[in-house]
Amino acid sequence: MKVLFVSAEVVPFSKTGGLADVAYSLPRALIKEGVDVRVMTSRNFHNRKVDVEERHLLNTEVEVGWRKQYLGISMTEFNDIPFYFLDNEYYFKREGIYGHFDDAERYSYFCRAALEALIHLDFEPDLIHFNDWHTAMIPLLMKKHYGHIEKFSNIKTVFTIHNLRYQGVYDAQVLNELLNLDYSEFESGAVEFFGGINFMKSGITFADAVTTVSDTYAKEIKEPYFGEKLHDLIRDHEEKLHGIVNGIDFEIYNPEIDPKIVKNYTYKNSSRKQINKEHLQNIMGLKKSKRPLIAMVSRLADQKGLDLLEHIIEELLELDIQLVVLGSGEEKYENMFKHFSYHYENLSASIGFNEELAHEIYAGADMLLMPSLFEPCGLSQLISQRYGTVPIVRETGGLRDTVIHYNKYTQEGSGFSFGSYNAHELLFAVKRALELYDNKKEWRGLVKNIMQLDTSWKQSALKYKALYQDLIGV
Ligand code: ADP
Repeated sequence: MKVLFVSAEVVPFSKTGGLADVAYSLPRALIKEGVDVRVMTSRNFHNRKVDVEERHLLNTEVEVGWRKQYLGISMTEFNDIPFYFLDNEYYFKREGIYGHFDDAERYSYFCRAALEALIHLDFEPDLIHFNDWHTAMIPLLMKKHYGHIEKFSNIKTVFTIHNLRYQGVYDAQVLNELLNLDYSEFESGAVEFFGGINFMKSGITFADAVTTVSDTYAKEIKEPYFGEKLHDLIRDHEEKLHGIVNGIDFEIYNPEIDPKIVKNYTYKNSSRKQINKEHLQNIMGLKKSKRPLIAMVSRLADQKGLDLLEHIIEELLELDIQLVVLGSGEEKYENMFKHFSYHYENLSASIGFNEELAHEIYAGADMLLMPSLFEPCGLSQLISQRYGTVPIVRETGGLRDTVIHYNKYTQEGSGFSFGSYNAHELLFAVKRALELYDNKKEWRGLVKNIMQLDTSWKQSALKYKALYQDLIGV
């Protein structure tokens, strides 16, 4: 079974969030299950973490409206995963992966380039697995521009929604001027969205199967509150929608061997976390203290529940705790953390994207805060569990599926959670965690338990494999 996995970001070459982790670790897990997966991404290496040898394969051109744009294709192999890079410096040699004025053009090009590349490559996939809006025009483009070519005639498609909020909504002229399509699918309503076009809608409509990254999110997005104005469409396609929870790569996120942390440890000697905690306090300019250290590693976006935190942050900082924040994103939240860290010596905020520091935080903190408004899956809580850092989350999406509120009577659970999107419920959940922290024996028990949870990709990769097999009919 041959699968082309297409993603705008992928570890270790580019990353803004969880999509990049998944685009590396899911293909890797599938390869272990005997699937021939190759990953395709743009040659956008602005935060590339490794040096690999690339083989240049070929140059060709891609139609973008009336223009023909350069496409270079190179290849490398990293940790047994074959990667194809689509190169066009005009579109991709930039800081950042998204958020440019011409994203409609950049990702129209990317979708078309992925298919154009397939014409030339010595690889005949049975299935294309594409991810989020940046790739979501692939099935429609395939049908309209490549349907007559034998190599494409039997290719099945799977679309994974990692976050329904970001949809790629643009002027309808994009269809004609960038994607070389007529207006028939606009007029039929298949890609139309409030008078414009919507990449994500197109992906959902034309993919053979749609998945999203947790069971609960798969249910939530059928409702108006979470459906981002696409809930009716998602209901119309619910028979092809599957919720498959993300895992994490147990080699990258493993406190026993992680080279990015100062002291390695396992669930058997988790007290060594203390050394990582002291190191973290040190590098973040916090006082050495045995009191609970709460952390947040997050994109700073509304989705992440930062307005809730803002509401109670002073009450929180008046408690006998320390707070460490690593994040980047919306300026108002960056300023919020800068402001409060100026006023409170027990808050230290690092604004930016820093992979090494993220690992040091997961290893050194006692608790991780994730009060998200919505959370398709969430990886930070899974990573924190693996490092024995107890997550405190709101019960939504994947957070609901992966963090079970601690029951002090049975001593079962994998973190702390709260239901309503309410700042004092958040504070209350934190206080419950702080209470348990002072009961050393029970706290150690909880830390030990969460470190042993199996949140690896194995089970979920098998579900994807079964889905692929079902579609291809093998
Ligand atoms: P999302 O994809 O919505 O950003 P996830 O929890 O699924 O949220 O994934 C976030 C990933 O990005 C995790 O691997 C997390 O450690 C990482 N991350 C988030 N913000 C930062 C940051 N500022 N620096 C380093 N890593 C970060």
